[in-house]
Amino acid sequence: MSLQVERLVDLAPSVATELDGHEGLWLGTDSELGYRGLIAIHSTRLGPAIGGTRLWRYQSMDDAIRDVLRLSSGMTYKNAVAGIPFGGGKSVILADGRENHPAARKALLRSHGRFIQTFGGRYYTGEDVNTRPEDMDIVLSETPYVAGTMRTTGDPSPTTAWGVFRAMQAAARSRWGSDNLVGKSVAVQGAGSVGSHLARHLHEAGASVVIADLQRIRAEKVGEALGATVVASGEIHEMAVDIFSPCAMGGALNETTIPGLEAAIVVGGANNQLATERDDERLAGRGILYVPDFVANAGGVIKGVSGFTKESDDSVERRVDGIYHTVLEVLRLAHERSTTPQVAALALARLRLSKGMHLDSIGYGAQN
Ligand code: NAD
Repeated sequence: MSLQVERLVDLAPSVATELDGHEGLWLGTDSELGYRGLIAIHSTRLGPAIGGTRLWRYQSMDDAIRDVLRLSSGMTYKNAVAGIPFGGGKSVILADGRENHPAARKALLRSHGRFIQTFGGRYYTGEDVNTRPEDMDIVLSETPYVAGTMRTTGDPSPTTAWGVFRAMQAAARSRWGSDNLVGKSVAVQGAGSVGSHLARHLHEAGASVVIADLQRIRAEKVGEALGATVVASGEIHEMAVDIFSPCAMGGALNETTIPGLEAAIVVGGANNQLATERDDERLAGRGILYVPDFVANAGGVIKGVSGFTKESDDSVERRVDGIYHTVLEVLRLAHERSTTPQVAALALARLRLSKGMHLDSIGYGAQN
């Protein structure tokens, strides 16, 4: 029970907005249990910050800080564009191997829950890379501020994958005049929770799927189930396909990979697909239509927050389905302003942030 919380940065929301920066970054430590976690809050302008917990082995504390800061600002933009009454935050638990032992993992997750509880509802979490809804049940034993537990809305990945599929259809319509994916080829990077559900939707829509995973066995499982072609993870981005879909870790689109892309469209579920801002220009320079990740992959958080907003299943379904229209709107805006979809989507998010959003106007009235 010896959790220590250290404030690395803590700013008033208005000051953070003014500086276009984060409201805060906190380090939680429980040296007895070997727990080290970071919570970053980028913005609470539109509501309490929400963003999942990533359990990851980082090279250094600086790497972990960079990751949590970048992921938390992405959540602000994602939630603003998705029209949900939540701000952006994120947390990471610094892994060191002990998380592979069930009892130690439970202790780490409980410490993390206690850390989250110290925010009293300013930050909500959920699952992310290397954490599962079952892990969120453990976090829930220490704090109510957790989405996507087995006892509430469950695994968000199928909903995320559906939203990515709808984003892909919108991009296809914009580029080829039709959202019909019959006969289109799609390379999916990552056969984890999101990638494997997405592959199934693509297969059902008549597209041909090429898939890769660092853990080849995962890609082979999808290959067997759907008749998808399995390739090595180092080759997936270079496949001669219509659409490339990053569904693994961030930074898949970078100065090394972009020159090798053969696809006309990039849409995926991974967070932070662009390694740097310049990679957005690199994609545009190659004439590749890139759908911003934070627009395409909002399905999971939309579903997760419905456990708190009490939005009905039908309404959640409509909102996730609406990612199709949001993507078309972002692409229209980009065309109108002669800019990239990434810049257009960020402008849309910032507009909503600067105005604030009235819950009634975005469909969170009393009926939900
Ligand atoms: P996951 O851990 O279930 O799957 C990720 C898969 O990617 C793993 O199988 C891993 O082996 C594989 N992988 C890692 N690096 C790879 C590489 N270089 N090449 C090929 N495969 C690689 O995670 P997930 O829940 O499917 O999430 C995938 C991405 O989508 C993450 O970036 C996550 O932040 C993002 N995301 C997920 C959700 C969700 O609902 N799960 C929501 C929004 C965003």
